Amino acid sequence: MKLASQTAHNCACGCTKCWKPAGALFTQIAVVPRDKLSVTAHADKLALTDPGATIERHACTACGVHIFGRIENQDHAFHGLDFVHTDLSQDSGWSPVEFAAFVSSIIESGTRPSDMAAVRAQLDGLDLPYYDCLSPA
Ligand SMILES: [Zn+2]
Repeated sequence: MKLASQTAHNCACGCTKCWKPAGALFTQIAVVPRDKLSVTAHADKLALTDPGATIERHACTACGVHIFGRIENQDHAFHGLDFVHTDLSQDSGWSPVEFAAFVSSIIESGTRPSDMAAVRAQLDGLDLPYYDCLSPA
């Protein structure tokens, strides 16, 4: 896959829908204009994880990684932006993580509620604002 523009709104996402590296509580997810994203190889390996979902995640059927997410609903506020995991890129210089989103959702994926204070303290230590939803901004 090739991105022909810088990413924006990079965040550490704790939701249960995003692909995450093995053992990770969060993944990095950012957006690019959809016309700046092109699948350059092995498009035949991609399949939707959840057809009809607001964000249609195009995943690799061989390794399970979500290669990109796309919103087809033209009335959605994020229509025109594709979601990508810049932490999977071999290039550096992508927009940095600006905040953490859906932090409490990591409980749904197995984090003990009693561990949440430590998780939030670690985010504080990184000077990363965090929310239990998407960033209000
Ligand atoms: Zn997410």
